[in-house]
Amino acid sequence: MNENKFPKINVTRSSMPDFDEYCAEIRDLWDSRWLTNMGAKHRKLEEELKNYLEAKNLLLFTNGHLALEAILRAMDLKGEVITTPFTFPSTTNAIVRCGLRPVFCDIKESDCTIDPEEIEKLITPDTCAILPVHVYGNICDNDALERIAKKHNLKLIYDAAHAFGVFHKDTPVSQMGDASMYSLHATKVFHTIEGGAVTFRDEALKARLLQEKNFGYGGEDLVLSIGGNAKMNEFQAAMGLCNLRHIEDNHTQRERVIRKYLEELKDIEGLRCWEPISGYESNYSYFPIAIDPERFGATRDDVRNALAAENINARRYFYPAINEIPSFRDYRSGPTPIAHKMSHNVLTLPMYTELSNEDISRIARIIISVKNSNK
Ligand SMILES: *Cc1c(COP(=O)(O)O)cnc(C)c1O
Repeated sequence: MNENKFPKINVTRSSMPDFDEYCAEIRDLWDSRWLTNMGAKHRKLEEELKNYLEAKNLLLFTNGHLALEAILRAMDLKGEVITTPFTFPSTTNAIVRCGLRPVFCDIKESDCTIDPEEIEKLITPDTCAILPVHVYGNICDNDALERIAKKHNLKLIYDAAHAFGVFHKDTPVSQMGDASMYSLHATKVFHTIEGGAVTFRDEALKARLLQEKNFGYGGEDLVLSIGGNAKMNEFQAAMGLCNLRHIEDNHTQRERVIRKYLEELKDIEGLRCWEPISGYESNYSYFPIAIDPERFGATRDDVRNALAAENINARRYFYPAINEIPSFRDYRSGPTPIAHKMSHNVLTLPMYTELSNEDISRIARIIISVKNSNK
């Protein structure tokens, strides 16, 4: 019998507005015939996101990756960038593609973000910036990072791809560091199909970021630098305007999913879940678990395979650690035992608004059934 009773469950499922709502939003594009190049929807979404994220300055991009490259180029950085190996390749690819060299720093086991205590050992006269990641929406230790950046005169740039809609009681996440990149990709909490945004502190950076986004143009017939093309189009912006209307509802549903997982998976020896972090309003973006193979009596991959056998797709975010990928082996790295360990122990479970409580219970039962299967 290999007939599957249950439909496939993917790790994520894009949130969508009603078809009619999106159609109404794009209707006037047939009148204006203005499809991209900072049109009306683009300008409106930029304004709405700036307010929503409490950003000082915000610009939209066609995707998060090019937004991150735009930051690195706009700042005219040279030399080494201290970053985390526990991330999506985009972070480190952006560094290398901009002619910079990544230097890998270990993470904290508590929340998988960069460990500020390990950073200073890696700083040399060549260091120009720190590029940490708010992994799973867990916000980095910004106070410590700001202190280090200031002391050594380094730029602090966040990969905030996971952090859209995380709010801190004092400092808006969008105002941390010199600049942050948000990904608005279809798989993220809030999306514009493909999309990205940059929030930044210094208004003077705006002109350079705009040039990076639009071929170096600084005005009509005025090309000021060797910029690329990273403009968000009107159809993307329209999807964002629709999705932003439903963001609260989206969060409520995601919170339900996380509470249900936490209830189903509590007090299991060798299986760790993350509670939403205190002091922050979470965006409930991911549901990672960490399996300690000794205590759980089975490995992370055993769990993944058992779920896959039931047509459930859980992902090893992030595996392998970036400094274990051949193309990155030649770059400098501190010891990163925790990043290595987490990359072997972490599994992110299916997480989206429509995931039913019944499916969550079934996923939990499959995970628990694997326990001690190696003993
Ligand atoms: C999604 C993601 C990116 C890339 O964003 P895109 O919008 O897909 O280009 C970068 N960093 C991290 C950590 C991500 O999860």
